[in-house]
Amino acid sequence: MKIAMIGTGYVGLVSGVCFSDFGHDVVCVDKDPRKIEMLEAGKVPIYEPGLDTLMARNVEAGRLSFTRDIKTAVDGADAVFIAVGTPTRRGDGHADLTYVMAAAEEIARAADHYIVIVTKSTVPVGTNAAVRETVARANPDLAFDVASNPEFLREGAAIDDFMKPDRVVVGVESDRAAEVMQAIYRPLYLRDFPIVITDLASAEMIKYAANAFLATKITFINEIAALCEKVGADVKQVSKGMGLDGRIGKTFLHAGPGYGGSCFPKDTKALARIGQDHASPVSIVETVIKVNEDTKRRMIDKLMDLAGGSVNGKTVAVLGVTFKPNTDDMRDAPSLTIVPALVGGGATVRVVDPQGKREGEALLPGAAWHDDPYAAAEGADLLVILTEWNEFRALDLRRLAGAMAEPRLADLRNIYSSEAAHEAGFTAYDSIGRAGFP
Ligand code: NAD
Repeated sequence: MKIAMIGTGYVGLVSGVCFSDFGHDVVCVDKDPRKIEMLEAGKVPIYEPGLDTLMARNVEAGRLSFTRDIKTAVDGADAVFIAVGTPTRRGDGHADLTYVMAAAEEIARAADHYIVIVTKSTVPVGTNAAVRETVARANPDLAFDVASNPEFLREGAAIDDFMKPDRVVVGVESDRAAEVMQAIYRPLYLRDFPIVITDLASAEMIKYAANAFLATKITFINEIAALCEKVGADVKQVSKGMGLDGRIGKTFLHAGPGYGGSCFPKDTKALARIGQDHASPVSIVETVIKVNEDTKRRMIDKLMDLAGGSVNGKTVAVLGVTFKPNTDDMRDAPSLTIVPALVGGGATVRVVDPQGKREGEALLPGAAWHDDPYAAAEGADLLVILTEWNEFRALDLRRLAGAMAEPRLADLRNIYSSEAAHEAGFTAYDSIGRAGFP
């Protein structure tokens, strides 16, 4: 199969590279000249483990190329995937479909043979129908079908998720489009994974419902964690006891500083808007959005309390600022709420993140970047673990406490324990949903 991929972000690039690894011929298009220049030079513009090697292998095999020219990519393609951003529209919470619709028009003008136009971007119900209308208007003679193929990969584990998906969801309106989509995903059939073929609206809805459900699960345990602190329970034990119930499951039950990232915040907001627009409010999701904001603010209160009421004039070292480990993505990361509150509160803030600096430097003004947790802790009054990178999971707590002016630890990912912090010489420790000290 010949595939064109529009957009070389986290989803487009991973999908394009993986499709080429399946043996398809893939041309990836981006309108950002910097990204295409980097890709043509063999460099990956984002941090995603394993992507550089896989990309190099398929470029070398002649199955994968990059261009700014959509016409080159669409020429002879069986399917064109739209994998552009759908950020929150300023002001109203809706998904901004400007990029999707612009891509649809560009495809329509570039195509001159039957193609399947596949939306991989996360889009509200009705968008694929709108793509169909836009393409038909821009190129009335074109024979085409539209398909919805939402993506479920997680940044940081994207290649594995793409290659070994729990399921692939495909929304179509014709058998012909279904056949093209099945041919594209056929290499995965060796693994016997379920391909869920639906109508367009259901496929669009599955993506929002799945993400909102996961955001709800995280938010649920975060709220239970707050209650655990009041009643003297330990949320780690609570989530273990809950998660072993097969009906509940143990994933997405780790209490933390609130969800962030490129998907959950914008997708929950978009789903809430879709509900409001159809006079069918998704109240549970509206509440999740609010509770998540409260959770991030609760973290700020925790840090202030741990610092003795105020961080004014204090030095705070923050470990991890990306929204989760193994990515350089800073979109809607809890650090974007927490670090500015520390800087605004008069603290000298030092941050350490294995991959966050390129994006994060401009987003966290006033913070000083360090490469090493121990150097960042030198003379500090408070150490905050905000993102659970592997590098921060086996720290020498004694060495850290010894280096600090005031050895206080805020463990917002529950990596360590009160006992371990105490033994290492910390004078104060707080985490999420568990007892701390003093
Ligand atoms: P991104 O912002 O990283 O990448 C989008 C890319 O599209 C950019 O490089 C941009 O330059 C390019 N682009 C925009 N308009 C274009 C056009 N007309 N022609 C060519 N290139 C164009 O976005 P992302 O994180 O990859 O997300 C893409 C979509 O996938 C979103 O709808 C998102 O919700 C969804 N999604 C994301 C993830 C994730 O983990 N990031 C997971 C599942 C689904």
